[in-house]
Amino acid sequence: MTFDAVRGRSSDGWETRTPSIVDRLRTDASAPIPFSVEFSPPRDEAAEARLWRAVREFEQMRPAFVSMTYGAGGSTRDRTVRVTGQIAEETTLLPVAHLTAVSHSVDELRSMVGAYADRGISNILVLRGDPPGDPLGHWEKHPHGVEYAEELVSLVRDLGDFHVGVASFPEGHYRAVDLDQDTRVLVDKLRAGAEYSITQMFFDVDDYLRLRDRVVACDPEQGAKPIIPEIMPITSLRTVRRALALSGSALPKSLDDRFTAAAGTGAEEDRAAVREVGIALATEMGERLIAEGAPALHFITLNFARATREVLTNLGLCAARV
Ligand SMILES: Cc1cc2nc3c(=O)[nH]c(=O)nc-3n(C[C@H](O)[C@H](O)[C@H](O)COP(=O)(O)OP(=O)(O)OC[C@H]3O[C@@H](n4cnc5c(N)ncnc54)[C@H](O)[C@@H]3O)c2cc1C
Repeated sequence: MTFDAVRGRSSDGWETRTPSIVDRLRTDASAPIPFSVEFSPPRDEAAEARLWRAVREFEQMRPAFVSMTYGAGGSTRDRTVRVTGQIAEETTLLPVAHLTAVSHSVDELRSMVGAYADRGISNILVLRGDPPGDPLGHWEKHPHGVEYAEELVSLVRDLGDFHVGVASFPEGHYRAVDLDQDTRVLVDKLRAGAEYSITQMFFDVDDYLRLRDRVVACDPEQGAKPIIPEIMPITSLRTVRRALALSGSALPKSLDDRFTAAAGTGAEEDRAAVREVGIALATEMGERLIAEGAPALHFITLNFARATREVLTNLGLCAARV
């Protein structure tokens, strides 16, 4: 079974293939750096309405692509496929569907890919995912599923004309033996056919630069593929601490101190002060990443446009596109 005619809509009509992310990142040197944004699946109708407000706001800012994360739970999954399909069909945005191996047999994974193909989605970010319930707990593959993301890259590539991206980890994946093994895993996923990677959020740009150097040193051909840095404009200290804990990471001490001072000692954190630090930090990171030649900036939005818009405006990347 292959899906060889994934269709997508361009401004001048239907075409047989949607552009790939790598195509979208190819801009001439004088153009501003591309940016992209990450959405999460809405859990209910109110959340879906909020997501659509963000989608429409970002549409005016013309991101290179938008990505939709993939979570556990049947009803959320159905909604995710439907909403991602609607973004492909009803907006000018280019969606990337995340896909994880969690709790799926190979047959189910094939049919998920088919469901995306049916909706004109050919860009897929392939991930292994984490154990449901406790993401840091013991990983057990589905008895008829896959063990590592690399196998899922091959599976998706074998199904047809799909453009695959994978995850990369500037600080190393929390289950990796060491940074060398972490680098080899990324290089193997790229060799299996992934065209680019998107990093986990990080806060020290040097970690990103070192990852880039490690991949080039390990395999120059794969090292030429884009490593897209992911930035989270922090607007809530509690939210970012929780998100980091779920991925086995934490804020570096100096930043934690900076945010803690802004949050204050009241029962509720001072959201306005935290937000100000968060926007300033994301702007500083963006400036340095641009200066260091990052191929694009990918923003975690939590389905809100305002904070990312402010960072893009600070970086001079918003006004040019509106
Ligand atoms: C940009 C981005 C987007 C994400 N989106 C989602 C999402 O939508 N939904 C979601 O649930 N999660 C998401 N995640 C989280 C991701 O699923 C987890 O970080 C997961 O723990 C690792 O996924 P992976 O694809 O990197 O796995 P893999 O590359 O398979 O690596 C998993 C672990 O196995 C090790 N490993 C890999 N191959 C081998 C091998 N051959 N031999 C020995 N060890 C090996 C690696 O070192 C690593 O420790 C995202 C992460 C990132 C960075």
